[in-house]
Amino acid sequence: MYCPKCHGGTRVPDSRTTAQGQTRRRKCLVCGYCFTTYERPKSLLDEKVLDTEKTKMIAHALIFEMERLSAELFKVFGEIQESGCTDNNTGIDL
Ligand SMILES: [Zn+2]
Repeated sequence: MYCPKCHGGTRVPDSRTTAQGQTRRRKCLVCGYCFTTYERPKSLLDEKVLDTEKTKMIAHALIFEMERLSAELFKVFGEIQESGCTDNNTGIDL
């Protein structure tokens, strides 16, 4: 972290952890300006909600794709059976 006044390097003489996050008292090594920074931890609850939504979207996409492929497969099998072809060279017993 650089000093907002002179962009010099800073040191952290005091750091505290609170329920809201981390508070750091910083002092510029060049001009001596003191300031405080606050770091809020990433909300685990927000992350969990996002992950749940993401997982649902992926599951729906997979189900949709499986249904589509399944329908396509049945269509191909139906066409093969209708053609009376028994030697299908697919290795799949029809
Ligand atoms: Zn400074």
